Amino acid sequence: MKQEGFGKMNACQDVHDVLMKKFQEKFGRAPDVVAYAPGRVEILGNHTDYNEGYVLSAAINFGTYFAVARREGPASRLVAGDVMEEVAFEADNPQPSKDRMWSNYVKGVLSGLNAIQKPAHGFDAMFLGNIPLGSGLSSSAALEVSSGFAFARLYGLSVGNLEMAKIGQRAEHDFAGVKCGLLDQFSSINGKKDCLVWSDFRTYDVKTEKLGEDVCFLMCNTNARHALVDGAYNERRQRCEQGAAFFASVLDHPVSALRDVSWAEWLDYKDEMDEITAKRCAHPIGEDERVLSGIDMLRNGNLKGFGRLMFESHDSSRNYFENSCPELDTIVDAAQATPGVLGARLSGGGFGGSVVVLVDKEQVASVETTLRNAYAHRHGSRCDTRVITCSDGARIVKG
Ligand code: ADP
Ligand code: MG
Repeated sequence: MKQEGFGKMNACQDVHDVLMKKFQEKFGRAPDVVAYAPGRVEILGNHTDYNEGYVLSAAINFGTYFAVARREGPASRLVAGDVMEEVAFEADNPQPSKDRMWSNYVKGVLSGLNAIQKPAHGFDAMFLGNIPLGSGLSSSAALEVSSGFAFARLYGLSVGNLEMAKIGQRAEHDFAGVKCGLLDQFSSINGKKDCLVWSDFRTYDVKTEKLGEDVCFLMCNTNARHALVDGAYNERRQRCEQGAAFFASVLDHPVSALRDVSWAEWLDYKDEMDEITAKRCAHPIGEDERVLSGIDMLRNGNLKGFGRLMFESHDSSRNYFENSCPELDTIVDAAQATPGVLGARLSGGGFGGSVVVLVDKEQVASVETTLRNAYAHRHGSRCDTRVITCSDGARIVKG
């Protein structure tokens, strides 16, 4: 299932057309329903979701198409279109698979929809996408959301956006064994062309904010993944919880999560805390404030200021949360010295993975070359790059 670099089929229309052809060849008919869902990139608000804070993200111009046709009886077939692997099962009884991991994202979604209403019939389905798998652009959420939209339409279910996002999240937790938050599904569902998605992980409120058409993002995937990631992730979560409990005991307003603590309060109390806990807490607290400042800057067209916040976010990762690594730092440091770059930071969990760079659209080609060369020079291997534009969210394209 490994994809070379950032994949060959860049245009989503090509993916759609190839899927229609393969579907026809495999099943001998056209699909009744086709849905599309994009991947996502995290722009500001790192590790804030489980602290009930804010995130700015975007749906991207790469995604997954999911095509499905009705079939009599419960027997169903599901095909991963790029590798042409197939699984067969009954639509009313999807069970997790041990050797076809990719099928679990779809089966998990189906299981969530089955809890709303038992399916009256089976299906033949196939999907195809152009998001590089496992590179931090959330191909898993694109698969969940595209299949969720397609099945809901096929079975005549009306499912709200929050409910659909939660069905995708549950599929990750229970069928794929990944304890993710809701950001990926929120962004894939709520994306809007040329806009960032602003999610509030306390209220689950989602808004979109215009980014401007003169800039785009460059994603640089280092392909680095450092050991002990799970342990480090759990340590960060625990420190955040300890910090929230500390602030709840000293502040005279209610604190149920770090979302309730301001940067000024952190400054006032940091020296009374255990040093490591204070450092860890600085990151989500600072990130929440950067998201709010970032929104003001977007509304005022201050993209330079917005870019500076991205650099500050990365510094905070590097110094306080310690979820960066030399590979990510190489790209961010090089970006800081490259004309045409407005900002850069790690995107996603950290400890490896990708950097997202905010770039003046007209200079994106030269920025791409400079960053790739800087990475190769320092690490002796390539980083994959891809130009990302903020795009519309999931939709039904047929049926
Ligand atoms: P990410 O979501 O960042 O891409 P994950 O590890 O969460 O990384 O999800 C990647 C997994 O999702 C793949 O290993 C595969 O099982 C599944 N997947 C997603 N999209 C596809 C696709 N188009 N074809 C096959 N498998 C897919
Ligand atoms: Mg994922």
